[in-house]
Amino acid sequence: MIRFDGVVKRFGDHLVLDHLDFTVDRGEKVTLIGPSGSGKTTILRLLMTLEKVTDGVIWVGGRPLSHQLRGDRLVPAKEKYLREVRKNIGMVFQQFNLFPNMTVLQNITEAPIHVLGRSRDEAVEHARSLLDTVGLSDKESAHPTQLSGGQQQRVAIARCLAMSPSVMLLDEVTSALDPELVDGVLSVLRDIAVTTDITMLIVTHEMRFAREVSDRVMMFDDGRIAEEGPPEQIFGDPREERTREFLKAIR
Ligand code: ATP
Repeated sequence: MIRFDGVVKRFGDHLVLDHLDFTVDRGEKVTLIGPSGSGKTTILRLLMTLEKVTDGVIWVGGRPLSHQLRGDRLVPAKEKYLREVRKNIGMVFQQFNLFPNMTVLQNITEAPIHVLGRSRDEAVEHARSLLDTVGLSDKESAHPTQLSGGQQQRVAIARCLAMSPSVMLLDEVTSALDPELVDGVLSVLRDIAVTTDITMLIVTHEMRFAREVSDRVMMFDDGRIAEEGPPEQIFGDPREERTREFLKAIR
């Protein structure tokens, strides 16, 4: 589903991703862990086309994402092409980024109507079923400022799902929340992970959650994969000293 092929990302002289190769299968749930600055968020931002690769190619669903094909040649992707491939990819951020002047329902239906061209009735019906999924059916007329952080994040998750993405990117989605609100959000995500075949890439410091939902954990260090494996192995019996140190530091 996702393939990083020799991906390099530099910011000026700073090498952030160092010839990265990995694949993620359709429906797979993969957690990215590693110290601050190891490149995890950059990977998600590249997939969201918020950043451009310095070198290498990213593929999503068999199509190049960082580039487009002209004949059998890869050329830098144009904005119109990027808008098209981006429709399949949704991201939920640490800060919820809801539209403050819109109601919850409008936040969720805006993109399906204006980007996917769905009818208003269809978008509203889908939004209501998603609000039910995230436990906020009674809040459709509320504005974001009237909601707790946890509720806002659950709206952001519903808004992401409203685009029916085949890939969902989660970047530290509970980090900005008060501790008592974290579980509600994680429980919604756990349900989505278990009940959908959406391919998920998750950056989180919530190791218990990572252990429960991941098919695979990738440990990053200095823009490279230091170690990867099933959660039982990475958390229970890490092979690399770097992974052991990291896990010890955050526990
Ligand atoms: P954290 O856990 O702290 O979020 P991370 O593993 O997600 O860290 P990234 O956010 O991907 O790390 O950042 C990797 C490195 O790239 C960092 O050193 C960061 O300062 C640098 N970086 C990220 N974005 C930019 C940018 N737009 N301009 C310059 N440097 C950047």
